[in-house]
Amino acid sequence: MSEILEIVKNQSPGEPEFHQAVEEVVESVKPVLDKHPKYRNHKILERMVEPERLISFRVAWLDDNQEIQVNRGYRVQMNSALGPYKGGIRFHPSVYGGVLKFLAFEQTFKNALTGLPMGGGKGGSDFNPKGRSDTEVMRFCQSFMAELARHIGNRTDIPAGDIGVGGREIGFMFGAQKKISNQFAGVLTGKGVGWGGSMMRTEATGYGLVYFAQNMLAVKKNSLKDKVCIVSGSGNVAQHAVEKIIDLGGKPITISDSSGFIHDEQGIDADKLSFIKDLKNNRRGRIKEYADKYSSASYTETKNGDTENGLWHIKADCAFPCATQNELGKKDAEKLVGNGIKLIGEGANMPLTAEAAEIVIKSGILYSPGKASNAGGVATSGIEMMQNYMGSYWSAKEVDERLKKIMSEIHQNCLDAAEAYGFKDNYVAGANIAGFIKVADAMIAQGVV
Ligand code: GLU
Repeated sequence: MSEILEIVKNQSPGEPEFHQAVEEVVESVKPVLDKHPKYRNHKILERMVEPERLISFRVAWLDDNQEIQVNRGYRVQMNSALGPYKGGIRFHPSVYGGVLKFLAFEQTFKNALTGLPMGGGKGGSDFNPKGRSDTEVMRFCQSFMAELARHIGNRTDIPAGDIGVGGREIGFMFGAQKKISNQFAGVLTGKGVGWGGSMMRTEATGYGLVYFAQNMLAVKKNSLKDKVCIVSGSGNVAQHAVEKIIDLGGKPITISDSSGFIHDEQGIDADKLSFIKDLKNNRRGRIKEYADKYSSASYTETKNGDTENGLWHIKADCAFPCATQNELGKKDAEKLVGNGIKLIGEGANMPLTAEAAEIVIKSGILYSPGKASNAGGVATSGIEMMQNYMGSYWSAKEVDERLKKIMSEIHQNCLDAAEAYGFKDNYVAGANIAGFIKVADAMIAQGVV
């Protein structure tokens, strides 16, 4: 085990997701440290794995029965070498310090890859919005922000959405923060278009993922046209990945939620996608309803947390895991590779287990890590921040063009960094190396702080 990993395991016991994220980066950057001793001399990795600030707080709120509920809220302010802390807020029962540390660590490199001035952070709560009324969600968000507000600011820390936090929650949190601070400042991104939000922010993560896949396929003189795609998840990232796949002539055939997945052999088209959006965003229902409505689809129930659920066992050309961390395990990876998958593009953060990633990398297929291929979301948050600073709005076309350009630059930077350090065509190593060097050089320039 590397020395850094040993330190992390000793200092942060019981946080396997954080250990997993650190181990992957440490392995990738080893040749960089060997070539440039300054990174070891300045103890860059030792400093990177220690959050600059870790905030944990009580969130007490009243449910609709006037009963008091208590949750735990967090903000991990990981690294501010490149700019103010930036990263989403996740509301999910699985949230604890270890998950948020892994996400904040990943975010630091992801944000560096966008080329925009953003440090890394992440926050959230173990609050489960599922089954809660709008007023309960509002009261929870207000209580959460009553504490978080003192730690954030548009030049300090700019949160956004993530799992369980969409337009509704951002609205409630923004309203609460505005009331507390008496300022209408761009202190959250993912705001509604019309009150400080950017065009295309909602679409950006999923679209960016597919633009990145397009870039990878183009290197092999290939494209998404007529490609059968399996997609997991049915939240914001999955919905917009499916939308862009359809747009580019591909054929998405699956979508899932925590209860199960649907397999539509005829493909999900624009009308069916509208149904999914309404089901998930407005009615907040279960994906099973899709199979009840469309006879071309079958539904398979999955146990919560079951990675070998069969979705990844369907034969396809491209796979886009867009649900959550470690959703795709060893057997899934073996099956995908055995079935001749051409490309895996991560829409979620760290959706492949370490074992699965190893199998996929060894196979040599096109494989992009989330910190590169899902960076379009936070990049567009950066674009939202620019518009807020300037007090202006840009058109959807303009934002989309910037997004495409950023995704193709990230793609090229990953390839270049990988090649420069002996990992030709390995996007995982390339993303880690390119992100690491950017953050590390800024840390060295800013002294021991
Ligand atoms: N939660 C998203 C991510 O994982 C977006 C963060 C942001 O826009 O700040 O990158």
